[in-house]
Amino acid sequence: MAKRDYYEVLGVERGASEADLKKAYRRLAMKFHPDRNPGDKEAEDKFKEANEAYEVLSDDSKRAAYDQYGHAGVDPSMGGGAGGAGFGGANFSDIFGDVFSDFFGGGRGGSRGGVQRGADLRYTLELDLEEAVRGTTVSIRVPTLVNCKPCDGTGAKKGSAPVTCPTCGGVGQVRMQQGFFSVQQTCPRCHGQGRIISDPCESCHGEGRVEEFKNLSVKVPAGVDTGDRIRLASEGEAGMHGGPAGDLYVVISVREHSIFQRDGKHLFCEVPISFTDAALGGELEVPTLDGRVKLKIPEGTQTGKQFRLRGKGVAPVRGGGPGDLMCRVAVETPVNLDRRQRELLEEFRASLEGNSSHSPKASGWFEGVKRFFGDL
Ligand SMILES: [Zn+2]
Ligand SMILES: [Zn+2]
Repeated sequence: MAKRDYYEVLGVERGASEADLKKAYRRLAMKFHPDRNPGDKEAEDKFKEANEAYEVLSDDSKRAAYDQYGHAGVDPSMGGGAGGAGFGGANFSDIFGDVFSDFFGGGRGGSRGGVQRGADLRYTLELDLEEAVRGTTVSIRVPTLVNCKPCDGTGAKKGSAPVTCPTCGGVGQVRMQQGFFSVQQTCPRCHGQGRIISDPCESCHGEGRVEEFKNLSVKVPAGVDTGDRIRLASEGEAGMHGGPAGDLYVVISVREHSIFQRDGKHLFCEVPISFTDAALGGELEVPTLDGRVKLKIPEGTQTGKQFRLRGKGVAPVRGGGPGDLMCRVAVETPVNLDRRQRELLEEFRASLEGNSSHSPKASGWFEGVKRFFGDL
């Protein structure tokens, strides 16, 4: 199946900034997350596609390679991408090393003799703001490649064993003479494995690994935010032919909250306030993550005024004191007035007539308008 352009997948311009990419990816990830679309194959595919696109475009060097060479520059199949919920074909290793090692005879450490470290995996974990702030332990179910039991990861049928490749003598590389140059290339017979399996194991078809779901318990520390990564060492894909396993990266994505917006360690919320309280002063009940607290409002408070509640924000995961909660008051115009209330307000309006000292903003504004027309 032909792959779609990564920029098109995320719905952004080619020159999109990192923040735009993140925003676009977040929107898609939220929309198509398998937890929200159980059993919906199309949503799952869209989710994987977005994960893959973001994986590449969020990494400067991968993005540069993609811009120059297209999909060929960043083929995730080299990393052995996993399928299933929550995954993109994540491979955090250096693509240039993979693409060019054949030509420079470099060979990545450990790939000799068929032993290869398993790929790193990425899992997107959605949390509520409260969970992210307080920390939590969640169990996740991740599809991954594990060592095949019948053959013990060797890929060879029980009773048989892989044999050293006769073409390269187990090195995985062969030297070829090309004109003046002697070029080292991956052995065509064993594809760099150094060993060949003449009698492959039936349950893994010689791969040495099989796909399996693993249940893992993830301890999320208090204070994490969207984009933070928790590394679970050796919980990624099993290595090839007995190589060490890769790591699993759990990437945090915090859901939007109905009351609070978060910016780093600070929280923001908007609190409606009656115009009489705003004018006369009063006491408000405002929500915090630890419950309600009282907030004194001085008389003459204007709409948009922000009150800072020190220490009622989030204690960041990397240490340091907690941030603040900023409550922005919004003065509310009273509605559905009865006759008596109307009379009171009519009387009140009349009492203001001709005295601009009660309206600090309006008088300043009219001064500005006057100056503006005077300058014309
Ligand atoms: Zn060979
Ligand atoms: Zn096997």
